[in-house]
Amino acid sequence: MVATARKPGQPGLAKTFDSLNPATDEPVATFAVFGEHEVGETVARAREAAAWWSALTWKERQTRLLAWKSYLTRYIMRLAEVVHAETGKPASDAQLEILLAIVHIDWAAKHARRVLSPQKVRSGLVAFNHASTVQYHPLGVVGVIGPWNYPVFTPIGSIAYALAAGNAVVFKPSEFTPATGSWLVSSFAAVVPEHPVLQLVTGFGETGSHLARSGVDKIAFTGSTRTAKKVMAACAENLTPMVAECGGKDAMLVAADADLDSAADAAVWGALSNAGQTCVGVERIYVAQSVYHTFIEKLADRVSGLRPGDDREADYGPMTMPGQLEVIEQHIADAMACGGRAVVGGLGSIRKPYVGPVILADVPETSAAVTEETFGPTMTVKPVADLAEGVRLANAGRYGLGGSVYSKNKKAAMRAARSLRTGMTSINSALTVLSVPSLPFGGVGESGFGRIHGADGLKEFSRAQSITRQRMKPMSNLTSFTRTDKDLNQIMTLVTLLHGRRYK
Ligand code: NDP
Repeated sequence: MVATARKPGQPGLAKTFDSLNPATDEPVATFAVFGEHEVGETVARAREAAAWWSALTWKERQTRLLAWKSYLTRYIMRLAEVVHAETGKPASDAQLEILLAIVHIDWAAKHARRVLSPQKVRSGLVAFNHASTVQYHPLGVVGVIGPWNYPVFTPIGSIAYALAAGNAVVFKPSEFTPATGSWLVSSFAAVVPEHPVLQLVTGFGETGSHLARSGVDKIAFTGSTRTAKKVMAACAENLTPMVAECGGKDAMLVAADADLDSAADAAVWGALSNAGQTCVGVERIYVAQSVYHTFIEKLADRVSGLRPGDDREADYGPMTMPGQLEVIEQHIADAMACGGRAVVGGLGSIRKPYVGPVILADVPETSAAVTEETFGPTMTVKPVADLAEGVRLANAGRYGLGGSVYSKNKKAAMRAARSLRTGMTSINSALTVLSVPSLPFGGVGESGFGRIHGADGLKEFSRAQSITRQRMKPMSNLTSFTRTDKDLNQIMTLVTLLHGRRYK
């Protein structure tokens, strides 16, 4: 057992570390700290596995991925217990997270062939005598660096799509959730015993840094924006591409005509579930002035019966990462100092390792409680004139991950949703996008770049290759030193006819 296990930045001190139960501080399991050499060896093994895995047929890969899905479904309760022990979230919430991951593995396995196999495209005028195709090849080895808040759903969003696209994966889970990562990797090995197609490396941030520098063909990173910048700098050394899924400060917009009960219900779940430790959690709510007070009453009413704890009846668990308590405290204190008002809870809601529900109203838009990711069971609520003002305030931040709009007016809701500077928006629900496997997931601005899930997610872990095949000799060969002026004039006449028309 290593006492320093929860102090990243000190990897030199320990060759092993413990993952701890955040509610009891008891060790869950002990893991090795992978150094540069061990990470390099793992990636080398992954290269060999990738050669085997990519040479399988689509059907052979699909069968194995579906077998993995089936395994996770049958043993969902066992995995949920590991997630509960490491994150503190209720086992039922862990089950929900695993269930979503299962849906994604299923979709990726079943759609990889359609999305990635060779497709004919039109060659166009200049190359009309050629047949053109595009197809997507696996990249090779993908390094997946995951966070602790959704230690199954989040990494699987990259792992499943990378595997389905024909890559091998080396997975570095957060130091807070290595047992969950280890369980996932072992479960895959149980159904794909032939080669180490999915491998685990454990340790602190430095192990992730070794993975980013190891020469893998892509890094799929999920975590904070601050760490994403460090990982990107490490990737830059080898020009390793990266997909970055980072933090958010998602807003919910509530129009005057919205179903307020439904909006309040979704806001409370979106803000408090998983103790607010959700990248696409509802952190800010902008409500039409005319229904503002009624809405706040509904919110307060709904949270009044909710409480954190470690028992089976608790609505949500402890803060997984002790350091997060400080951030939450700072944000609440800043909101109050700027003239904000706590409608429910306040600084007294922080009772380590738990934080009770907090609803903050009238907080200036410049407060850290509005501009920074809080990652706790808190929400700010502010009145706005209409959806347009809500959109303007929602878009003012540096993040742009998800968001939600509540209105009975379909057109107005769609207009607002499209105007939000986000990667994903749900109308008349919250967080729904992530449960639709065919929809891409990702953000803009400080929320990151690149997409996981859906067809975009499969392509994210692939290399597009374009091929032209000459079908017949050209009437005139333009790309040859034997070209004549007549050849060029002929094509210029055609191009002028087709493209030279004036546009008003
Ligand atoms: P961190 O950024 O602290 O860590 C993410 C991962 O990166 C961990 O595995 C961590 O390892 C590793 N890491 C840390 N330092 C380095 C480094 N220098 N080089 C390489 N890897 C490193 O994020 P959290 O784990 O705290 O996760 C919470 C954050 O993730 C929140 O901001 C949340 O919004 C975001 N998130 C985003 C999602 C999205 O899809 N957009 C989904 C879920 C969460 P270790 O833990 O061992 O230090």
